[in-house]
Amino acid sequence: MLRDELPLISVIVPFFNEEDGLVRLHERLNAVLLALPVRSEILYVDDGSTDDGRRIVEQLRSQDPRIALLCLSRNFGKEIAMTAGLDHAAGDAVVIIDADLQDPPELIPQLLEKWREGYDVVYATRMEREGETWLKKASASAFYRVIHHAANFDIPRDTGDFRLLSRRAVDALKRLPEQHRFMKGLFAWIGFRQIGVPYHREPRHAGATKWNYWKLWNFALEGITSFTTAPLRLASYLGGVIALLAFAYGLWIVIDTLVHGNQVPGYPSLMAVVLFLGGIQLIFIGILGEYLGRMFDESKRRPLYLVADYHPSSQSLSDKA
Ligand code: UDP
Ligand code: MG
Repeated sequence: MLRDELPLISVIVPFFNEEDGLVRLHERLNAVLLALPVRSEILYVDDGSTDDGRRIVEQLRSQDPRIALLCLSRNFGKEIAMTAGLDHAAGDAVVIIDADLQDPPELIPQLLEKWREGYDVVYATRMEREGETWLKKASASAFYRVIHHAANFDIPRDTGDFRLLSRRAVDALKRLPEQHRFMKGLFAWIGFRQIGVPYHREPRHAGATKWNYWKLWNFALEGITSFTTAPLRLASYLGGVIALLAFAYGLWIVIDTLVHGNQVPGYPSLMAVVLFLGGIQLIFIGILGEYLGRMFDESKRRPLYLVADYHPSSQSLSDKA
């Protein structure tokens, strides 16, 4: 194997309908990468875009052999697109960055510096959030708090997917086969030496976010259910408390009937108890269902994604030779 002295850095850019930002992103990425004493490849992962993004990357690629293009067969979502990128990246270190220029490429040298110091996961930590609504900030903060308490390890707060991974961290991630990929959790789960680098997150450069609150809610659910079974335990505790209360109430009714005789049919209290318990039961059947559904998905053992086209960069070709 013939390798240059310089390390190879792979930059993974998952994109879904980002045609307006890609060229600008590429310019900024290139300006940063070419100034560094590294070899680099930029791996664009087309997550089933329906716009012109793919053609734009193909055009960029015809001028620059350091570009690789991986096209998934349909839209699989960002988590899977990142996974596909990690599977195809050849670098000694891998950087994951959003296509909408919310993650400044100019931070990459700092990430690299930490990697050179021996860190395996160098994540970028947002200092403040601009151009995001109050509700989004509040819900994000609540989510981090829940996951922090529920999971048995720490997921760093205020981090996105913008980060650098060492080769061994990437190889570790590739060994995690789960279908439900909550990447932020997986990044933290692998361990190794991790460190944060603060940065200023910009508003979107072009286009619109594909996240709505419904998607975010499901994302949060994914994060919680793939890393902790605490909600299942919650069901037993809550059930226990309610059963205890119901027992006390029943006792009171018996005593009341013994002392005062049976005066009332008791329809309202009966209805209240039945409805309340019915609701509680439905909630926890739902929680059980969440976990069962995940087991169902895992047991199918489907591939995580399908590749429609792969055009590697010249770097990864020469590395494999
Ligand atoms: N993305 C993707 N597949 C999707 C949705 C989004 O690859 O199904 C990409 C998107 O193009 C962008 C990144 O993931 O590069 C982050 O998406 P977005 O900006 O919508 O999320 P936010 O910044 O609001 O978290
Ligand atoms: Mg964004």
